[in-house]
Amino acid sequence: MEKQDYKFKRKLDEMKKMKGQGTELITIYIPPDYNIHEVVGKLRDESGQAMNIKSKQTKKNVTGAIDRLLHALKGIKKTPSNGIALFAGNVSGNPSGKIELFSIDPPQPVPIQAYRCDSSFFLDPLERMLEPKKVYGLMTLDRREAAIALLKGKRIDIVKTLNSQVPGKHRAGGQSSVRFERLIEIAAHEWFKKIGEIASKTFDESRVVGVILGGPGPTKEFFLNEDYLSAVTKRKVLGTIDTGYTDEFGIKELSEKSGQLIEGLEVVKEKELINNFFKEASVGGLATYGLKEVMQAITFGKVKILLLSEDLEKKKLTLECPQCGKKQEKIVEHSPSNIGKCASCGAPLIEDEEEDLVEYLMELAEGTGSEVELISTETQEGEQFLKSFGGIGALLRFK
Ligand SMILES: [Zn+2]
Repeated sequence: MEKQDYKFKRKLDEMKKMKGQGTELITIYIPPDYNIHEVVGKLRDESGQAMNIKSKQTKKNVTGAIDRLLHALKGIKKTPSNGIALFAGNVSGNPSGKIELFSIDPPQPVPIQAYRCDSSFFLDPLERMLEPKKVYGLMTLDRREAAIALLKGKRIDIVKTLNSQVPGKHRAGGQSSVRFERLIEIAAHEWFKKIGEIASKTFDESRVVGVILGGPGPTKEFFLNEDYLSAVTKRKVLGTIDTGYTDEFGIKELSEKSGQLIEGLEVVKEKELINNFFKEASVGGLATYGLKEVMQAITFGKVKILLLSEDLEKKKLTLECPQCGKKQEKIVEHSPSNIGKCASCGAPLIEDEEEDLVEYLMELAEGTGSEVELISTETQEGEQFLKSFGGIGALLRFK
């Protein structure tokens, strides 16, 4: 996962767990260029309709949630550049619970205008923003046709489709077959040169992290081996995949088939990293693990790559003694109801600050020039990393 997405994902995970007693949790989405007044009008309509709800409790919670949303919208003069995502409802599960309001700053423009009333919040549009943002280059080709495209998450942008002037197999009368075949080869060479240049110009860009070639038959392999692509683009080629078409349909086909290839590569990269860590840790080599050990290694500038499990749901609390002013830090899972007493004077401590442990460690490591990799638990290795190593480890520059 991308580091900047971590915080956003945590918030979504938290909201996903929230449930209403009935169909009473409300979600609204407003795209960037959408008029807020229209949404206000719609909310008022919904509030009117909520009067027909039979359950007294649900009616109270729905109208209460709409009121909170209306109040929140009143404070917004202009729709922010990525739009608005607001949520309201009684999420405590308590009949007398109060209506809470949540807002999320979307990292990308909100694509839809929506009003939802359900037993949980509607988070799909935001979850889709967590899909990989890396850009891949796609190219389909044969001797007649080619298409060049960029794959961004699940979206395909067609950059160019081209048709060749390479003659077909049927030669015109009067030409010798040797001469004709030679002409065909010259035309084919020109064609490959031309599409190779356009593809290289598109795929040389640094945001393109991988390139996949498609098309029927062996033409794509020939094209790849004959150096029609720039050295930069060629290094990015992840592989070739057979497709039935070479036009926009071919690109669509290629993107569908390349999903596994791309996903596989990311998984392989993560597995390699973790296996390297396991190996170093088992022989007492250039690796360390455990919160205390890793934090110390970061402080001494020893950490080359900090490895953190995405599913490490821990928090770092800063606690303060109200009596003697002494501060202390504590790592906890979730939020504890009892945070203990002051070691010096015995007064009950109060919470001063709460921070997500992964975010805290990421910032600490980046401040000392270490790389940070977030490890999913989707692979067996990732799960083992969380269970056996506590989800906190580091590959070291030196011991
Ligand atoms: Zn104290």
